[in-house]
Amino acid sequence: MRPPAFIHVDCDSLWAVRSCYGPMEASDPSGDRFWTEGVPAALELFQGLGIPATLFAVSQDLEIEVHAALARRAVEEGHEIASHSHTHIMDLRSVPLETLRCEVNHSRAVIESTVGVSPVGFRSPGFSWSPDLPSELERAGYLYDSSLFPSPWGPPLRWMRRLLGTRSERPQRPYGGWRAGWGNRLPRTLGSLLEIPVSVTPRLRLPAHASFALLRGESKMRSTLHWHAWRGLPFVWVIHLIDLCDTSDLDLPTPRWSKGMFCQPADRKRERLRSALGWIAEDFEIVRTDRWARSELDRLADAGD
Ligand SMILES: [Zn+2]
Repeated sequence: MRPPAFIHVDCDSLWAVRSCYGPMEASDPSGDRFWTEGVPAALELFQGLGIPATLFAVSQDLEIEVHAALARRAVEEGHEIASHSHTHIMDLRSVPLETLRCEVNHSRAVIESTVGVSPVGFRSPGFSWSPDLPSELERAGYLYDSSLFPSPWGPPLRWMRRLLGTRSERPQRPYGGWRAGWGNRLPRTLGSLLEIPVSVTPRLRLPAHASFALLRGESKMRSTLHWHAWRGLPFVWVIHLIDLCDTSDLDLPTPRWSKGMFCQPADRKRERLRSALGWIAEDFEIVRTDRWARSELDRLADAGD
């Protein structure tokens, strides 16, 4: 049997991307460009390939009706809506417990009221992970977390951002600590919550997200997939809305080295994502994360009896 693969879309709006690198911006009440371009493009891509996905939404974006309507359309088309926090706060690992609790709980409540589903999955913005996160998610009723980035590059990347001085007005504390960076790639339970780490490359543990696939090309992506499939490891593939959108007329404050990833024509990006999803489907069974998490938690409970 082929191992499972999970297709995750982090629905970072244009305001969220800009706020990571520059002054704080507010959401566009008439509809964020990345949402209104990127989400329909993602849904068309998934429908064409007949695969399910999980959309991780920043719940304050869902308070804008045009976004909520797109999320409801995703649900109707068989996809899962999960939480990507309420405000896309990038230092969730170091905020006071009350703030963490509020992001986790309020996000769930907003998704319930705007989309009409109870989210069971969570991804922290910037993969900002701390041991407090799983217990708060469990308390709030989530079943799984997919925030852990099992790579030792997390802390150096965090320091580099600080050294290079991103001009963000918001605190930036992405990724987890050193121990989380060397953590196991396999999903595991933390309390009654399932932690599903995002996938990284085999040896160097570099990010294996869609953005890097756009940059690194077919052979590296395929070798990462084969390596995971051969070992029976689940594959978690993270797409961001920017990976689906035209950014040629946007003056994005992203680092110079990332321009090759983000500044390709939208048609080319979508075609490359379509190819990459096809390669994933060759080696893995693409399944919905919430359904797999439920069956995996049941299996682990039975094994423990
Ligand atoms: Zn994000």
